[in-house]
Amino acid sequence: VELTGPYDLEVQDVHYTYPETTKEVLKGVTINLQAGQKLAILGRSGSGKSTLAALLRGDRKPTHGKITLNGIPTSEFGDEMADYIGVIQQQPYLFHTTLLNNLRIGNEGASEAEIWDVLARVGLKETIAQLPDGLQTMVDEAGLRFSGGERHRLSLARILLKDVPIVILDEPTVGLDPITEQAVIDTFFKQLEGKTIIWITHHLQGIEAMDRVIFIEDGQLEMDGTPQAL
Ligand code: ATP
Ligand code: MG
Repeated sequence: VELTGPYDLEVQDVHYTYPETTKEVLKGVTINLQAGQKLAILGRSGSGKSTLAALLRGDRKPTHGKITLNGIPTSEFGDEMADYIGVIQQQPYLFHTTLLNNLRIGNEGASEAEIWDVLARVGLKETIAQLPDGLQTMVDEAGLRFSGGERHRLSLARILLKDVPIVILDEPTVGLDPITEQAVIDTFFKQLEGKTIIWITHHLQGIEAMDRVIFIEDGQLEMDGTPQAL
């Protein structure tokens, strides 16, 4: 499947039950998201937010209902979904290889110049330029050589290199102190300007910058409106 923009996302009466379980985790979720909209998804722990993200990303298929991108069911995309939707996880994953290779995952053609440019945009250029091995620095298991905030920025750098139109941020700042958290969020929103953003978050701080807010409660939408309506 090859698409051109704008990239409108439609979630139509989506239900989901994890394999080998009986509890329905999503119970008829409907969301129409126009290209360029900034949506916050709020909800308590266990309400189904990350499950919805996995379905949007095409990592899981709805047990009922459908999700379409420009009218085409995401089930028809397979791995190509990664060209349209990027996810910044709660715990960004880094691989046990060089920084350069980590940033080139999914961006095989990226030149070093492009990579440095993106690192500057996420505020990591100096940090990495100062490492004795620079982009050839080995990342250990789980990327523990880097702080939480740095890992989130590397994850953003990867997505910026790929230039996907839709980005899901799944509680991208969990575990950061409030000042670093604000800095990381500010960088994310500035660098992702113009893209469709789906921001999964636990708290209300920062949501006034969003176009729309959805509350998920026990697998169902309890509210869909503007931040001002809260
Ligand atoms: P949090 O705010 O804590 O991240 P969440 O809203 O993202 O919560 P989900 O991770 O979507 O919640 O989980 C929703 C429900 O699905 C929970 O009851 C959870 O236990 C269950 N669940 C999540 N992942 C799986 C899985 N792989 N297999 C079975 N059940 C799962
Ligand atoms: Mg979650």
